[in-house]
Amino acid sequence: MEQFDAVIIGSGYGGAIPAARLAEAGMRVLLLERGQRWTTSDLMQSDDPRYIAKVIDLVVTRAGVAFRTGSMVGGASVPMDGAHFRAPQKSFDVRAGDGRPYWPEGLSRNALDPYYERVERMLRVRQFAWSEIPKAGGLFAKMLDAAGASCDRARLNYTDCKHCGFCAQGCVFDKKMSMLHTYLPLAELHGAEIRPGCLVDHVEPERTGYVVRYTRAGSPVEVWGQRVFIAGGGVHTPALLLRSKRYLPHLSSRVGEEFNNNGEHGFIGILPPEFDDLSRYSCFMGSENSAMMSFHFFESNGFTLHPGGGLEPSILAASLAATDDPLVPKRAWGLEYKRFVEAVYPHRLIAFSTLGLADGHRAITIDSAGAPNVTERDRTSYDAYLDRVDALLADVSTKSGVKLLPVVPRKLSGTTSAHLLSACRMADAPERGVVDANGHVFGHENLYVCDASAVPYALGVNPALTISAVAERTAERVVERG
Ligand SMILES: Cc1cc2nc3c(=O)[nH]c(=O)nc-3n(C[C@H](O)[C@H](O)[C@H](O)COP(=O)(O)OP(=O)(O)OC[C@H]3O[C@@H](n4cnc5c(N)ncnc54)[C@H](O)[C@@H]3O)c2cc1C
Ligand code: SF4
Repeated sequence: MEQFDAVIIGSGYGGAIPAARLAEAGMRVLLLERGQRWTTSDLMQSDDPRYIAKVIDLVVTRAGVAFRTGSMVGGASVPMDGAHFRAPQKSFDVRAGDGRPYWPEGLSRNALDPYYERVERMLRVRQFAWSEIPKAGGLFAKMLDAAGASCDRARLNYTDCKHCGFCAQGCVFDKKMSMLHTYLPLAELHGAEIRPGCLVDHVEPERTGYVVRYTRAGSPVEVWGQRVFIAGGGVHTPALLLRSKRYLPHLSSRVGEEFNNNGEHGFIGILPPEFDDLSRYSCFMGSENSAMMSFHFFESNGFTLHPGGGLEPSILAASLAATDDPLVPKRAWGLEYKRFVEAVYPHRLIAFSTLGLADGHRAITIDSAGAPNVTERDRTSYDAYLDRVDALLADVSTKSGVKLLPVVPRKLSGTTSAHLLSACRMADAPERGVVDANGHVFGHENLYVCDASAVPYALGVNPALTISAVAERTAERVVERG
């Protein structure tokens, strides 16, 4: 059996970063990724759902709940929308119902700042200039201004962006600094091997390390790692640990619990006609992320607002179908609908969502075949969060004259989420979480979780930068330990 100093499962933010840092430190690193390795020339500017399904893995669970995760070498850093924010200290201060903090001792905004800085440098994160803000971002700002609320330009990892708007398809111009442009080449430069097309089933302890069992082109393969990092993302990491449970007797019973969609709840805004003073531009022009962010409600109410870019017709249809507003056609098809879309779609429609400090209300479980599923948990607290959001946004709507429609009905809130946090969360003790403050799985020496699922609670801002900062810190601790 092949042997490595470290075997890393998954090549998104959580996998690519330790791969680079451990290889830099001279360790023999193998990175296993279930997806294929694409080059820029494989990417397309296409909305064809068959193409999108290759770039983004839409996990549709048996419970009918769907999530978007990474699916190729580079993970979701390839199709993601580029927003990279440090989490404010308030995110680290949140406490559970029993009064104890979600984040383990020693982790705070101050403690993560040096790691945030390191990642920002690698990914060339910067604030967009005003001249780069797409029309949809400008209209979002206008809506908030009319409601007496503030916002500012977002921070993105796009360099010399061409504003073509096909970010979620993967950037054909190499302007988005994904893992493919940053940490993965660094890992390879230092001798790490990236092995695509390898779907890991489970891990089993052997001697002081672990056997990692996976399939490649339908054939079973096993490798041994002195250290193993699980970084399959917010849904697949808990599923992998649950499949490994019978080999890991000390695994915390919290695996899969407290799955958190980062308080993401989408809205569509139909703006009044007088808002459109830029009719030569369309709302779907410019970068996918319309590059604004509002922290106006964060300190007082624990949520941010962040606009999306181009509206998917299916999202629009779903929202329209969910309303009985007399201005909006009753059906999301037919001539009346077509005329409505022609009139408002390019000029007066914006999409945005909340991200907030909300409790998780689902758990990741596995079905009999070991595939991830979702189980609903108590959503009282999540509903209270949505009540708060609805009340404040109703006020924004009244003051600005913008008609607001939820993208999906409340009970489906978070079902198209790409912010998939906390199902193997960090904690101070195994009865509260799955890994300690250094990403180390409680009770299982040399086994680590290093991705979105280790982030202990909603952040209220886009999570990629925090996932990365925590991954940098975890890798640093492992290198220090030797
Ligand atoms: C369309 C989209 C837009 C987004 N926009 C933003 C944004 O603007 N800002 C932001 O902060 N966040 C954004 N996100 C979320 C962000 O991309 C994720 O939070 C982040 O990528 C999570 O990193 P990760 O390493 O945990 O998982 P991923 O990036 O999902 O990587 C996990 C990797 O593990 C692989 N894998 C899974 N299971 C196995 C297995 N069993 N064996 C082998 N390999 C496996 C997967 O194929 C994948 O490549 C977006 C996500 C999507 C999908
Ligand atoms: S808008 Fe910028 S980052 Fe997005 S795909 Fe186009 S060039 Fe790339």
